[in-house]
Amino acid sequence: MAFDYDLFVIGGGSGGVRAARVAAQTGAKVALAEDDRYGGTCVIRGCVPKKFMVFASEYPAMIADAQEYGWAVNAGGFNWDSFKTKLHTELDRLEGVYRKILSSNGVTTYDARATIADPHTITLSTGESFSTKHILVATGGSPVRPSLPGSEHGLVSDDMFHFDTLPKSMLIIGGGYIACEFAGIMNGLGVEVCQFYRGAQILRGFDEEARGLVSEEMIQNGIDLRLGTNIIEMEPVEGGYRIKATNGQERVFEQVMFATGRRPNTADMGLEEVGVKLGRGGQIIVDEYSQTDVPSIYAIGDVTDRVNLTPVAIREGMAFVETVFKGNPTPVDHHLIPTAIFTQPEMGTVGLSEEDAREQEPIHVYATSFKPMQQSFAGRPNRVLMKLIVSQETRKVLGCHIVAPAAGEMIQLAGIAVKMGATKEDFDRTVAVHPTMSEEIVTLKEPVRSA
Ligand code: NDP
Repeated sequence: MAFDYDLFVIGGGSGGVRAARVAAQTGAKVALAEDDRYGGTCVIRGCVPKKFMVFASEYPAMIADAQEYGWAVNAGGFNWDSFKTKLHTELDRLEGVYRKILSSNGVTTYDARATIADPHTITLSTGESFSTKHILVATGGSPVRPSLPGSEHGLVSDDMFHFDTLPKSMLIIGGGYIACEFAGIMNGLGVEVCQFYRGAQILRGFDEEARGLVSEEMIQNGIDLRLGTNIIEMEPVEGGYRIKATNGQERVFEQVMFATGRRPNTADMGLEEVGVKLGRGGQIIVDEYSQTDVPSIYAIGDVTDRVNLTPVAIREGMAFVETVFKGNPTPVDHHLIPTAIFTQPEMGTVGLSEEDAREQEPIHVYATSFKPMQQSFAGRPNRVLMKLIVSQETRKVLGCHIVAPAAGEMIQLAGIAVKMGATKEDFDRTVAVHPTMSEEIVTLKEPVRSA
């Protein structure tokens, strides 16, 4: 049977666009539908604009440090309008780049919402319908607000790039990547930030010592971080929202933002109707080749809720094309993925936390915490952490955790060594680059503890 397309991709984010492009390059006839902006969460309302805001937010501290280094400089004021205009011009440019990547590779794009009518048919909101040999669902996820009185008034991460004016005060709910990153951003931009996290320590699941240091530094930087605290309700009042907290406090904030997790975009797409299995969180259940229960339908990225990171979605898209269009079945390797949290300081991490590693096997922990020379010279009390978790038996580095300025840059490189299976002795054999912060990772002498 002749299909209109070999592949129909639903979703023009990082994963979908990469899969569409690479599939088209094999000679396949490919279409892609996107009902919002091309580039998806990462480019339009996630990693990219977030990182620009991180950069913007870090200048006041840099200027303060510059003064300590003898420069006669003053921060003056931050012009949100001019930054925002420039930010959105850049996002428009990037969206154009994504569209161009598709058109120049011969992918047909539809600015429409797609639903799956049957395992080989896509129906668009325009009324058009197309047959296709394969379907790839790459629709990502969306932020969720908890259901509590007034929560519909709260912002989510999507809204953080669109303020008319920056609020004077803001409450951020949550303790994950998004909550912590925006707490740092808004604090750096001069907003009075309070953060509520319901658990005992932010960044659950990461190495305890590392997240402990991030939280200490966040507090040191002026963020009013309240652990073991949650919001019960909120209501609009003059000048913002009055919130009630689990600790009995009532306070007014100009804005409230929920960073309380994300949900896969799988609703009203015809997925379950055609037999695609969804998990309890609404995520599409796939096998190691990203194939669903319906053989012609595959899914990649956040919609599958495996490891919700852009580079992982891209890898999943590449592996899908390798498997389906190049005849080379390629499972996705989700093991030892380096990642960074762009707080101040950043946290870079790869492999097992100390807590997870010691559950698996006997380990040695090598760690050092110190004041880095650049900040210390400027009179800052901030500390950094370099930590390796090492298998007692194989001496392999099972985990590497860095809390430091630019830890995201460092962990990318340390990640190569860890992914290669480097031992502690391999780290030790590597000559230090002096004077740097990261040299400490190759000069850790004795374990600080064993478990
Ligand atoms: P996370 O799932 O990481 O964090 C959600 C947070 O909200 C947790 O602290 C959770 O608490 C809390 N929470 C959940 N429900 C409630 C509730 N009802 N009331 C109060 N608190 C609640 O989600 P994020 O939205 O922060 O991030 C989503 C994903 O996006 C991340 O997992 C990551 O994969 C990706 N991401 C990556 C970034 C990067 O690479 N730098 C940046 C941003 C996002 P608890 O811990 O108790 O469950």
